[in-house]
Parts: sequence; C-alpha cells; structure tokens
Amino acid sequence: MFNLIVRITRSFKSKIYLSGLLIATLTLIIAHNFIITKLEAVQAQQAVPITASWSQASFPVENFQAYTSGFGYRIHPISGDRRMHQGLDLAAPLGSYVRNWWSGQVVHLSDHTGCGTMIRIKSGNWTHEYCHLMGTVENTTRGQALIDRNGGIMLFMGQNIPAGARIGRVGMTGSTTGPHLHWGLMYNGRYIDPADVLRQMFAQRI
Ligand SMILES: [Zn+2]
Repeated sequence: MFNLIVRITRSFKSKIYLSGLLIATLTLIIAHNFIITKLEAVQAQQAVPITASWSQASFPVENFQAYTSGFGYRIHPISGDRRMHQGLDLAAPLGSYVRNWWSGQVVHLSDHTGCGTMIRIKSGNWTHEYCHLMGTVENTTRGQALIDRNGGIMLFMGQNIPAGARIGRVGMTGSTTGPHLHWGLMYNGRYIDPADVLRQMFAQRI
C-alpha cells in the first residue's frame, strides 16, 4: 500500500515536472518568435533621410479615405502567410486619381505581377512606386506606355513627370481585396516606411 502511494506520488510528480518542462519550452519558443519578429522589424526599418525641404512633394492620391495597411511584417490578406509589406496602403474610391509624389522619370511600367498595373518613378536617390492602378501596359510606336483611356492617362517609359501630376487611377489590378493605392518608397535601393515621409512632409506644412 505504501509502495503504491509512493509510486502514484512519483508518477504524479513526474507529470508535474513534465508539464512544467513543456510550459517552459513553449514559453521559450514564444519568446524566441517574439524576439525574431522584433529583430526583423528593426532590420526592415531604415531611417528616413532628412530632406531640407519637402515643399515640392505631393500627397500621392486624391479622395484619400484611410491608411489600410502599414509598412512592415503582416499576415498577407490573400495568402495568409506572414510577409513583409514593402509600402503603405491608402484606400480611396475606385477611379480616384493618383498623383506623382516627386518630380522624376518613369523607369518601370508593368501589369503582370501581384502589384497589378504599376509605375515606378525615379527622383535622384529616391524611387517611388504605385500599384493596383487602372489600365494596362501597351507597346506603342513611342515605346512602352501605361494607358488608361477612360481616365485620360498615357504615360511613357522615360517620360519626365512633374510632382503632383495625375499619373493614374486607383484600381483593383493585381492581388488586392479592395480599391487602394499601394505606395512604395525606396531610398538608395532600400524600402523605407512611407508613413515616416508623410509625417515629415506634414510637419513642415504647419
Ligand atoms: Zn500594399
């Protein structure tokens, strides 16, 4: 009888020990994932270079409604995977005009990726891109062009575009769950958080 009690106590103790070990291991895994997430966020984040004047910069979309997804790691709304979101999503009604953020040259046009119909413009060290636009990319006698006939948009590769010019309209091309502009900003080839740039632009307007 005594032996039985000892055996029961022992197995009870070992169960407590095992569950304790399990909890400790799980805590460690959770803490590790949390630290990795933080590290990735730090690595992804690059400080926005201070520009003397943002006065020529334009807000990139008309009829802005809301910021629907920020820069950084997120669970992708379509695939469900954890992925880096290399830009800022600005919701606006379908067909709202997109405006060129900074004067520059069209360096890339495309309409066959998850980005949908997109434009990339280079302005010195900066590169800015606009995704999910209306229209298509076509080959013309003047070279590759983004054409959105109903919106009166025709943009050519290599064309110089002034800041604030209408360069396209908010569409649903590529992978998107609702009408929005995905706006990406790169400085010296590295993506930065466009929200930091917007904060600096507005801070100077006050
Ligand atoms: Zn986006």
